[in-house]
Amino acid sequence: MKRLLPTLSALALGAMMFAGPASAQEKATVGIAMPTKSSARWIADGDNMVKVLKERGYNTDLQYAEDDIPNQLSQIENMVTKGAKVLVIASIDGTTLSDVLKQAADKGIKVIAYDRLIRETPNVDYYATFDNFQVGVLQAQSLLKGLGYPENKGPFNIELFGGSPDDNNAYFFYDGAMSVLKPLIDNGTLKVASGQMGMDKVSTLRWDGATAQARMDNLLSAYYSDKKLDGVLSPYDGLSIGILSSVKGVGYGSGNMKMPVVTGQDAEVPSVKSMLAGEQYSSIFKDTRELAKVTADMVDASLSGKQVTVNDTKTYNNGVKVVPSYLLKPVVVDKGNWEQVLVGSGYYKQNQIN
Ligand code: BGC
Repeated sequence: MKRLLPTLSALALGAMMFAGPASAQEKATVGIAMPTKSSARWIADGDNMVKVLKERGYNTDLQYAEDDIPNQLSQIENMVTKGAKVLVIASIDGTTLSDVLKQAADKGIKVIAYDRLIRETPNVDYYATFDNFQVGVLQAQSLLKGLGYPENKGPFNIELFGGSPDDNNAYFFYDGAMSVLKPLIDNGTLKVASGQMGMDKVSTLRWDGATAQARMDNLLSAYYSDKKLDGVLSPYDGLSIGILSSVKGVGYGSGNMKMPVVTGQDAEVPSVKSMLAGEQYSSIFKDTRELAKVTADMVDASLSGKQVTVNDTKTYNNGVKVVPSYLLKPVVVDKGNWEQVLVGSGYYKQNQIN
């Protein structure tokens, strides 16, 4: 027996060395909770996350919740029950996950907020996203460029749209845009005929294009029967498409009715096509391949107990704590640079667009 023992432990040691960290990682499952498949960007996010994590030897459990909050909750509960080691969550409503994240924390599961901040809980470890304030700044600057400002002095009639009020990002986009637009509203260069300003008045629940379209219809009939609409701040391509159908419905874009300048975000294919058709003016490209990489780096580092790389430790207070974040750079795209930015980077193939 005595002679057997060292042999056994040597064997065990050998097995452990053979198992090594790589195969321990192979067994780790990362749960990925995405909000919806109704927007191409989130499909790309899910695909890129799975691709990068698989390449690095993880198992993945990718779920889409079709913008249904209870659905997303139960998907995350399942991931916790099934033993995920890390959760990567793009939340629908960033305030509704506190209970399940408490369960996750009790089991030592790491939680990474993906693109959207998870609020009102201490149990979120890291946040991987883009510079969301800068997204709004770029949208507003592009709106002004489309209007021909400052060569063209205005005044210009514009309307403002905001994103979903349960998405923390929506406030950052709006505030970023208003940091550029507000001084020009105050000095009369920009006029908001409806007077509707502030996220409480301009938000669009669940980022729904039909809701934005209906609001644009109402604004046009209530405030624009005797004046022309020159521009619309739209925070997301799905809303922009709705806004554009509304304005086209009353004749903009034909005859002497110039299409208003409409911004966007995500550089989704229908919006790039719309830009080429002279309708949507611009969008914001956020490279989801880069976001997936940054997130996978966070997964790697937190599982191996290494220092997680972040580049912002001030901006994202979730109501309980400041969540250490990595912010990527958004890029504005319009008719002038879409090909270089979107096709040149390999994000789209030319034949997806034209
Ligand atoms: C994302 C945007 C997206 C929006 C609607 C936001 O949280 O940051 O990229 O346009 O959700 O899906």
